[in-house]
Amino acid sequence: MSKLRIFCVANQKGGVGKTTTTVNLAAGLAQVGQRVLVIDLDPQGNATMGSGIDKRALPASVYDVLLESAGIVEARQRSAKGGYDIVGANRELAGAEVELVNQERRERRLKRALLPVRDQYDFVLVDCPPSLSLLTLNGLVAAHGVIVPMQCEYFALEGLSDLVNTIKQVHANLNPDLQLIGLLRVMFDPRITLQQQVSDQLKAHFGEKVFDTVIPRNVRLAEAPSYGQPGVVFDPTSRGAQAFIEFAHEMVKRVG
Ligand code: ADP
Ligand code: MG
Repeated sequence: MSKLRIFCVANQKGGVGKTTTTVNLAAGLAQVGQRVLVIDLDPQGNATMGSGIDKRALPASVYDVLLESAGIVEARQRSAKGGYDIVGANRELAGAEVELVNQERRERRLKRALLPVRDQYDFVLVDCPPSLSLLTLNGLVAAHGVIVPMQCEYFALEGLSDLVNTIKQVHANLNPDLQLIGLLRVMFDPRITLQQQVSDQLKAHFGEKVFDTVIPRNVRLAEAPSYGQPGVVFDPTSRGAQAFIEFAHEMVKRVG
């Protein structure tokens, strides 16, 4: 496989599993031989820390990349544990939105920044913040597709329509390449009837766009970030890790 694929991991809700999906899919793809770059687009810097990189000590960050004071090559670091490269983020990124507001091509910064490294990777995964902000827009304009992690809860479908509409708008106006790749059910507990019902509704509405892989609720995935590692590396035998490895295979099959 040689064609670069750029995917956003997005959902405007917080705490739904975006960062967990990003770092574990990145590590899973790396384990099956893919060259992966992660872009942390969230000022919380959780993907950065969860990849074993100290967000308070970045030589350059995604903030510098968006403001064009550094390139990806200078800003990227190696996640030794994860087996992928990452452009880190920290609180500084929260200011980028305001600083970019009067600048030209402000929604195309990330897309442009990725051009020089496009032959160096098979996958770029963009961990988006919990909003449909200019930061997320930079991700959507740069990407070929969107992966949407979601919990099968009562209001999940409602929130989804805003995101789907945003993807349609970006597709129509800014990035004709952009597609919804799929919806990933995460933190799933099959014993909870409501989750099964929402999962069934999801399949009825979105059909093929719902990934086959289901990520279970698994405490090892939640523990891994405090060790600066993706769960698939921290405890490869855990059910959560195995599900993400399966998901990496599904992704390669789907888009490979
Ligand atoms: P987001 O990036 O959307 O805000 P996170 O990936 O940070 O969401 O996940 C929110 C919280 O849930 C984190 O504490 C994370 O460790 C935990 N978590 C995520 N996925 C799982 C899972 N499958 N099982 C258990 N805990 C999870
Ligand atoms: Mg996050």
